[in-house]
Amino acid sequence: MNKIEAIKSEKDGLDILRDIPAFSRDGWESIPIPDRDRLKWAGVFFRRQTPGRFMMRVRITNGISNSHQFRALAAICDDYGICDGYGGDGGGQPFADLTTRQQVQLRDFSIADVPDIWARLDAVGLVSLQTGMDNIRTVVGCPAAGLTPHELLDASPVARQFTAMFLGNREFTNLPRKFNVTITGCRQNCTHAATQDIALTPAIAELDGAPVAGFNVAVGGKMGSGGYAPAAPLDIFVPPSDAADLCRHIALLFRDCGARAARNKTRLAFLLAEWGADRFRAALATRIGRPLPPAGADARTNAHTDHVGIRPQRQPGLSYAGLCVPVGRITAGQLRGVADLADRYGDGSIRITPGQNLIIPNIPDARRDALTAEPLLRELPAQPSPVARGTVSCTGIDYCHFALIETKTRAAETARALESLLPNSNGAGAGNHNGNSRPLSIYWSGCANGCANHTLADIGIVGRRIRQNGAIQEAVDIYRKDQPGPAMTGVLCSELPAVLAQMLSPDADAGVSVTQPVPAPAPNPLGS
Ligand code: SF4
Repeated sequence: MNKIEAIKSEKDGLDILRDIPAFSRDGWESIPIPDRDRLKWAGVFFRRQTPGRFMMRVRITNGISNSHQFRALAAICDDYGICDGYGGDGGGQPFADLTTRQQVQLRDFSIADVPDIWARLDAVGLVSLQTGMDNIRTVVGCPAAGLTPHELLDASPVARQFTAMFLGNREFTNLPRKFNVTITGCRQNCTHAATQDIALTPAIAELDGAPVAGFNVAVGGKMGSGGYAPAAPLDIFVPPSDAADLCRHIALLFRDCGARAARNKTRLAFLLAEWGADRFRAALATRIGRPLPPAGADARTNAHTDHVGIRPQRQPGLSYAGLCVPVGRITAGQLRGVADLADRYGDGSIRITPGQNLIIPNIPDARRDALTAEPLLRELPAQPSPVARGTVSCTGIDYCHFALIETKTRAAETARALESLLPNSNGAGAGNHNGNSRPLSIYWSGCANGCANHTLADIGIVGRRIRQNGAIQEAVDIYRKDQPGPAMTGVLCSELPAVLAQMLSPDADAGVSVTQPVPAPAPNPLGS
């Protein structure tokens, strides 16, 4: 039995909730070593790099939030986050990080602060529960669900329904490993379905003689634990009414049948590899107790969107504004500023995207120009440069003990360097890719666990260490989309901007540039 299985067998992870008041009273030194891992069931992360200073991951299902929640998060950052001199234009301000699972990560508080932070989150309908360790993580969905004309259906109610099934439910708190889920009706591939343990993607099937908009089902995607494995289609169609229950059964099948020995071989992908898709499908049908309809027609297009930019909604007369948050790091002041803009120009709703950016929905078309003239949009632009827009970074060495390099600052600095080194990568309108092109994606993972989904980017950056002239140096391997191995290995971080500029130069013929062509979206098969 590995260490984590032993910890889980002694007591359920959620039992840590009753211990928090005592830990809070007696200080972090009083927390037994196994309970430092169990805290992750509560979404509280003990940081080995900074003992006594914790991180909290806040669950925001489908990335759907609002101005009340953003103000509460800003106030928590102000009151409890250490001002560590976060650089750039917001130097010296408390900050939070937006993640690729549409969550918000709060930094640098003590265990004594946790009860008050939770009370403040609860007051605005937020929780940090089950955002770490062997739980179902935040369900990712299209951040423009219900807004974009390019969706088959609004899948966010299914994401909420499934979350309500497992949150606080001990049936789901002892999975063999972490479990990632996306449920999306967006036809423009905005949620990285390939890397999820469960991916429900838009499809149309004929049920009882009528076309139904629902989902095709794929399982077993992963990034870490031995590298990338794409989610495999199960040849199953599920209508929205049955989708949350189907996800529930898949998670419980994994709980009951997944391997639990070596931690690096316990993701759902390994069960799928052992069984094959046909046996998995049959076991699922047996568990559910009825035949499962075959996959419908895939309604996805070849396009990928990040939902950044000012874009028309499916509701006539309204637009949404997708704002670029450079490398997902946002100051308390910016959180509050976004809340103010959402109230002033929209209806107070705010969305977080899987690209670590933000959306302000429901802006009357007549007010779009006034919004884009707001000073905050110079910091969080709706028309960013292509490289800033396409740069995504994991937490890196600041807050992750797996990291081999610092990522956030390097990613932001590299994007700025590329803006000045490459033609056509900066300037007004350079980031406006609503038509026939999209920005280059550059995803940074601080280690091979690949939290930034580097394999899916045009250029993937993975941290490593190399020895050079007798000294250990921070370096990276560079991956190219759809190529199995790294295109370059052991590139010193200090040399990376020049290497990438060479790779992206118009003369390089490397097959990538600052913008990538996309095919025109196909019409919605069920109409608008
Ligand atoms: Fe940490 Fe590695 Fe994940 Fe980055 S990719 S957050 S360094 S585990």
